[in-house]
Amino acid sequence: MDDEWICGRMGEDEPWMLGAVNPPVFENSLFAFATAEELGEAIRNEDERYVYWRGTNPTVDLAQRKLAALERGERAKCFASGMGAISAAISSQVSAEDHVLVLGAVYGPTTQFLRYLEKFGVTHTHVDSLQGCDSAIRESTRLLYFESPSYMRYEVFDIPAVTAWAARHGLVTIMDNTWSTPIFQKPLTMGVDLVVHSLSKYVGGHSDLVGGVVAGSSRLIRPLALTEYQLYGAAMAPHVAAKVIKGLRTLPVRMAAHQERGLAVAAFLAGHPAVRRVNHPGLASHPGHALAVRQMSGFSSLFSVELDTESRQEVAEFLDLLRHFRIGVSWGGFESLVNAPALSTKESVRATMGIPVGLVRLSVGLEAAETLIKDLGLALEGVGRLA
Ligand code: PLP
Repeated sequence: MDDEWICGRMGEDEPWMLGAVNPPVFENSLFAFATAEELGEAIRNEDERYVYWRGTNPTVDLAQRKLAALERGERAKCFASGMGAISAAISSQVSAEDHVLVLGAVYGPTTQFLRYLEKFGVTHTHVDSLQGCDSAIRESTRLLYFESPSYMRYEVFDIPAVTAWAARHGLVTIMDNTWSTPIFQKPLTMGVDLVVHSLSKYVGGHSDLVGGVVAGSSRLIRPLALTEYQLYGAAMAPHVAAKVIKGLRTLPVRMAAHQERGLAVAAFLAGHPAVRRVNHPGLASHPGHALAVRQMSGFSSLFSVELDTESRQEVAEFLDLLRHFRIGVSWGGFESLVNAPALSTKESVRATMGIPVGLVRLSVGLEAAETLIKDLGLALEGVGRLA
């Protein structure tokens, strides 16, 4: 099955669809049964039978089947948000007193969640390389968590090498694949045990939903579906699943367009004298480019640049001068967005994370690249000292 088929048609010729070209949205909280015995049987297999919205739903199920197939996993579970998926996936793999290795920079709230787990005795260590893992691993280490490309810096990790290292030490691996989407990277085929995504970014694609997914083997997903999914209660709503399915319809073509536009904008910025550095793994100048080409089939359009400044005021002026890029959090939608950690993160956190003052994150949307390049060029010229 190719990805276009999975996104457009897979699972949609079944009798319950009645030939509809878009799936029915089953917006009912419960399902009724003909007999008490049937209800009992369904409850005993609640991860697979339709009983109650917080556990299973046919529209959500279709989104799950498509996402599992795209990731080449056996099963997937959709959540009310990416953090719902991440917190459930991590919780499913650790117990009190366990230790977690975090490789590279990861999404801030993921680290916050790991800090939260400290009250249950679960500890974690941040490392920036496999050599770092070698030094930080403990008897109690159970899990290795990472993103590739990594958060904000877009550093590329050698996924087969990371998973081989983890397997040698008996660790489970969880990887956040939101940046690449399953269109451009398939971590399960490189030995990752559980893949997590925020569906709120490229998969949704229209900045009109918040959702998440965990994909992997039935062996790991089934207990998660019966326990963390049901008990934390971060279930995806059926109408959100319908939007996810709609997002998937155009995901392959949108990703091709995001890739082309993102690379054009990144190349322009890499040649601009007011820019110190562009962190985009699709550029040949990026230190992880050769590795990225080996394990990814394309590049999304989220990257960061380091402006040639140490002034928060100048970074703010640059953002304010942009006319097409909108200032905001999140990414992966049709609209180009810009954000700067120096302006949106506590100064102490920025400094601890080693993020330069001039770092600006760009999410290149689906506007014409020339329009965006002109916008950026004018804004860079507009900031007096950068010009
Ligand atoms: N993972 C990454 C890399 C993200 O950037 C985000 C959100 O920005 C998340 C996970 C969390 O997703 P959500 O906002 O859907 O909870």
